[in-house]
Amino acid sequence: MKPMGPIPPFFESEEGMLLIGGCGAASLVDEAGDTPLFVYDMGIVEWQVRALRDAMPSELSIHYAVKANPHPALLERMARLVDGFDVASGGEAARALEAGMDAAHVSFAGPGKRDDELIAAIDAGITLNLESEGEARRALALAEQRGRTPRLAVRVNPDFDLKGSGMRMGGGAKPFGVDADRAAGLARSLIDAGADWRGWHIFAGSQALDAEALIDSQAATVGLAARLSNEVGVTPPLVNLGGGFGIPYFPGDQRLDIVPIGDALGQTLQARADILAGSEFAMELGRWLVGEAGVYLTRVVDVKQSQGETFVVVDGGLHHQLAASGNFGTVVRRNYPIAVANRFGQTAENEAVTVVGCLCTPIDKLGDKVALPKVVEGDLIAIFVAGAYGASASPSGFLGHPPALELLLG
Ligand SMILES: *Cc1c(COP(=O)(O)O)cnc(C)c1O
Repeated sequence: MKPMGPIPPFFESEEGMLLIGGCGAASLVDEAGDTPLFVYDMGIVEWQVRALRDAMPSELSIHYAVKANPHPALLERMARLVDGFDVASGGEAARALEAGMDAAHVSFAGPGKRDDELIAAIDAGITLNLESEGEARRALALAEQRGRTPRLAVRVNPDFDLKGSGMRMGGGAKPFGVDADRAAGLARSLIDAGADWRGWHIFAGSQALDAEALIDSQAATVGLAARLSNEVGVTPPLVNLGGGFGIPYFPGDQRLDIVPIGDALGQTLQARADILAGSEFAMELGRWLVGEAGVYLTRVVDVKQSQGETFVVVDGGLHHQLAASGNFGTVVRRNYPIAVANRFGQTAENEAVTVVGCLCTPIDKLGDKVALPKVVEGDLIAIFVAGAYGASASPSGFLGHPPALELLLG
């Protein structure tokens, strides 16, 4: 038997049926029409946004990182809940605007922006978080050709990293941003070229569950922004502090207590250098806002034995929920929280089962030797923490099965 990650604290059962947003999982499948199905509960997202606003200093803007979950209906709701969107492709930029977010509150980061993506962003008035001097040169030339003043910020590859983060995106040689020792020079050249310089974007890492590490990283980020701004000699209109708040996925993971992080950030901002006195500050979060709000529901097609092991075969798999199979940014495969939705809360059997997807590859494993109540054909399996990096971050074309359905609640 192997342990699984903790089920998020938002889920209850009624007569043995998992409730999502107050509705039974089986009736949600009926409503959507089929499995596999992602259900996103906006009630949980709203809860997270409220908790974040309560904990963070009131002057801090909250941005949503669209790549965590770009579902159009979810984006429309998010556009009204948060203060801005951060996008990472031309496609996400278009979705952000379609969802009703004002271009003035959309910023576009990401390496390898093509000319057509730069043009679309410049024409719309989206801020480009520049990843290199070369990208800056192209953006300035394209804006000039079009007779526009581009809104340009500099993404900085910080000279520190976010300790304990699941995915490091700063510190050392990185394809993201401009090294800290060249960032002020780049900002100066943008200002001299007549661009609307929007400030700094400093993103140090992702999926951190260590509050102390996040506090240190935020203080270092504000310090770096001050140092760079003093070098430029201009107050940045906006400092995007990044995010990196993690959520529990695996055995032993604990929910992050954001209250001390907000308190510390409040003190850091209070004590900030004079050059940042007139700056606005934003934080960008993806998974922390939406990850726990999603449940992936998939139906048991077969239960079979092999050499004393029981395999539960479901109609979904890694083509929809790659991360639960352990093949998205993790080194060692560990179990996501998983349950039998129509026997939710019932006592597990003594014998562990292995839940596999329907793909003909040994890596399509959704639960490895997990303790579940007795499973039979037709049961519904729920895999939790599926609201971020799920449907859109999985190889849905692999093996030619249909894409998962997606249903937004609340
Ligand atoms: C992916 C990404 C995010 C979101 O990360 P989460 O771990 O989902 O919060 C934020 N900012 C940038 C620049 C990113 O690339």
